[in-house]
Amino acid sequence: MTLNRKITLLLITVACGILAIFMLISLYAFRHLSIASSTGHVQTAAEIVRVLLTESMINGVIAKREQSLERLRDIRDLRTVRVVRSKWVNEQFGQGLAREMVADEIETNVLDNGRPQFALREEDGQPVFRGTIPYVASSRGTPNCLQCHQVAEGTVLGAVTIELSLTELRRQALYGALAVLVAVSLISLFAILGARRLMLPVGDTAAAIGSLVQAALRGDFKGRVQQRTKDDIGDIAAHTNKLLSFLDEGLSQISERVAQLTGRPPQHDDNQLLATIDMIDGLADATRFKATIEEDETKTEIYERFGLLLGRRFGVEAYSIYEAHGATQLAPISVDGEISGSCHWCDPQILVRSEMCRAKRSGHPVDGLVQPGICFAFRAEGGNAEPDPWRHYCLPLIQSGTVGCIVQLVARESEAAARLGQIPYIQVYLREMAPVLEAKRLTETLRDSSLRDAMTDLNNRRFLEQYVDTLIASSRRRNSPLALLMIDLDYFKMVNDSYGHDVGDSVLKGLADVLKQSVRTSDILVRFGGEEFLIVLQDADGDNALMVAEKIRARVADFKFRIAGGMLQKTVSIGVAVFPDDSETFWQTLKYADVALYRAKDDGRNRVVRFTPDMWGDETVVY
Ligand code: GH3
Ligand code: MG
Ligand code: MG
Repeated sequence: MTLNRKITLLLITVACGILAIFMLISLYAFRHLSIASSTGHVQTAAEIVRVLLTESMINGVIAKREQSLERLRDIRDLRTVRVVRSKWVNEQFGQGLAREMVADEIETNVLDNGRPQFALREEDGQPVFRGTIPYVASSRGTPNCLQCHQVAEGTVLGAVTIELSLTELRRQALYGALAVLVAVSLISLFAILGARRLMLPVGDTAAAIGSLVQAALRGDFKGRVQQRTKDDIGDIAAHTNKLLSFLDEGLSQISERVAQLTGRPPQHDDNQLLATIDMIDGLADATRFKATIEEDETKTEIYERFGLLLGRRFGVEAYSIYEAHGATQLAPISVDGEISGSCHWCDPQILVRSEMCRAKRSGHPVDGLVQPGICFAFRAEGGNAEPDPWRHYCLPLIQSGTVGCIVQLVARESEAAARLGQIPYIQVYLREMAPVLEAKRLTETLRDSSLRDAMTDLNNRRFLEQYVDTLIASSRRRNSPLALLMIDLDYFKMVNDSYGHDVGDSVLKGLADVLKQSVRTSDILVRFGGEEFLIVLQDADGDNALMVAEKIRARVADFKFRIAGGMLQKTVSIGVAVFPDDSETFWQTLKYADVALYRAKDDGRNRVVRFTPDMWGDETVVY
């Protein structure tokens, strides 16, 4: 039942209750008042009769008393006036008139005990009030009763019975009550209508908010409440609208950004909230996935983990992962969960002639879910004649500007739509996986090459010179900056001078270890010069780079280098510059990092300095 209905029902109940109580009080008051006023009238009439009888006695016309009483009976509403004589009067003056004989028990009682009696009764549906009043002999009044009556003081001489019709009184009372009843009913009606008018916006606003909340639970925050009044209820509507706008805008922004990251445009029939939560879950999971694979030892481990993820998170059981080897070859890495499985889903010729693979050749995704038969190399098991044939979707993974590997997802035609919906989410994981695979590939190929520094096992300057083009291309493609950290040990000459070159070497090795532990696998660590190191952070802007640099500076400062006969503590100075924010060319950015490093030295060492353009051309800077 709606609030408005409830309130209307309550008001009607209260109004009916008030009317009922009013009627009861009216009836009780009528009865009480009519008895009180009738008692007074009967007593007055009895006194008039007594005076009439006394006057008749004094004037000697007592025999004509009945005529006087007859005139009294003409009074409207006075139905009966009857006098009865007690035995004392009869004894002294003889039997009276026939109608003066005792007529009923009430009169007998009144004559016996001298107390008046009153009663209200219904006669033919009409209210009649009866009173029987005794006349008691008294020597104190005027005239003195005992002058004529030979009786003792206080003897009951007789009584008068008077009956009044209350029909007119009741009619008047009923008219009065009816008028008040109509007035109260009208007031109640106006009160109910007024209250309904006041309560209507409350109920309507509550109902509107209720349906908006329902819509919000379905992820729709577009609805608004109509602001009907300029009071508290109006304020609630306005505040609700504000909250909904805030949620709507906030959620739209979040889902837009998340959609940019996942590459999946917002679906109109989706529950926007649930879809966004789902997307954010996917992103968070992908970030965790990246953190995990960064610590994996080999590429094979990474592929294996990705295969498990396909199965567990996306329910993909049929798939292939191929890795590009050289310009023309593809190697199956993982097939349907089996590491180094054979080429199952494609023509094996692609293994030796990789240009036969459409995804490898074009570098674009190949959607065989929507366009079956797009790729001739795909071999649907059992052919397309079977009722629910196999379909495929191939995703090439770009590494160093070329296709490094291909992930092929296979699904039954009946599952194609569901699989297609999963592609953007799977791509998020692939995007996270690409730089890590690239770093692993580089690490693996460079492990025993001349591009490494033998003493620290870090990349050397030649490595940087060879790798820099790939780095720049990758940074530009992903539109993501590279932060350069140039690191130099403070007062290192003193170590050589005080402890000898061997100790100096061990300090350099210790520092290299600290640096390795402070960066991610995808970052590049180079021994740039004697005791100068360069770190290239991928996907890091100036602020992130400063945070990492500060972390490294603090770690080195706290680190205790083991040397023969004790411990040694050293500090480093770090210069930071960001490509392409600070310069369009990588090598110029490197110079800027060096300039910032020398500023750190000038400023007292053991500090991180971010390059600013005013440092370049500063006469005090020595480069
Ligand atoms: P600062 O950088 O704080 O200005 O002072 P510094 O004493 O560290 O000065 P600088 O960077 O110019 O010194 C570099 C020294 O590092 C010179 C060289 O003897 C020493 N060095 C360079 N390569 C090696 C190496 O492979 N082993 C050892 N033991 N010392 C090295
Ligand atoms: Mg130094
Ligand atoms: Mg130096």
